[in-house]
Amino acid sequence: MIPFALRWSRPALWLQAHIQRRRRARRFRTHDGINGHCPVCDRTVRFVDWQDNARESPLCLRCGSVPRQRALQHVLAASLDLANARVHESSPSLCTFQALRARCRSYVASYFVPGRSPGARLGAFCNVDLGAQPFPDAAFDAVVTQDVFEHLPDPRGALREIARTLRPGGVHVFTVPRTLGVATRVRAELRDGALHHRLPPEHHRDPSDPRGSLVMTDFGDDLEAIVQSNGLRCRVERVLQAKAGIPRMVEVFVATKG
Ligand SMILES: [Zn+2]
Repeated sequence: MIPFALRWSRPALWLQAHIQRRRRARRFRTHDGINGHCPVCDRTVRFVDWQDNARESPLCLRCGSVPRQRALQHVLAASLDLANARVHESSPSLCTFQALRARCRSYVASYFVPGRSPGARLGAFCNVDLGAQPFPDAAFDAVVTQDVFEHLPDPRGALREIARTLRPGGVHVFTVPRTLGVATRVRAELRDGALHHRLPPEHHRDPSDPRGSLVMTDFGDDLEAIVQSNGLRCRVERVLQAKAGIPRMVEVFVATKG
């Protein structure tokens, strides 16, 4: 077992990314694809279909990004001047970690490892519980979360902390799976430190955890209202750009601190 800090150190990340790209390119070489420009790796690439999910397919054969990551990158670049922006991303994927670290004035990438001290270095990352962050008020121009909020035990507390760490006018740009036509429902909750399931446990794939990541909340129509009741104005951008490898509509949320 490789220690967590080493697993996520910069040389390890670079090597892991390189190996993943080689494997992916071999695995999907014969799949149907289209050529286009990837907003994550900023290259002319081939996008290949690998599953029937508008948010997760097609895949960029160069950086491994999927439509929701490319849509977020597109909205983020349109929402602020990245070269002058201080950005915090919670639980980044490898491809967006590499893209944002290269493009932003300052980029803090964080993971949460319970039991480690808040703000401790974990290789290239910082140990941050989104619901109790070690950062001062107004520390960032943007906060990025990609499919993180459905896994948080207290999404409202995390929104209030994000609002606190954003400067006035700063943005929380995020993706989260949501189902239209239904209200948000809690699948599982933490009470007195113990996990209680209200619905059968459901997990999402997590590259840093072979067990996957438990879904705590299914978001629905009232997502924007939930964000707004916790200190941020919220709008949704619906992105559809076939040439950027987003051939079906993907939602990206932009929550602005007033
Ligand atoms: Zn790419």
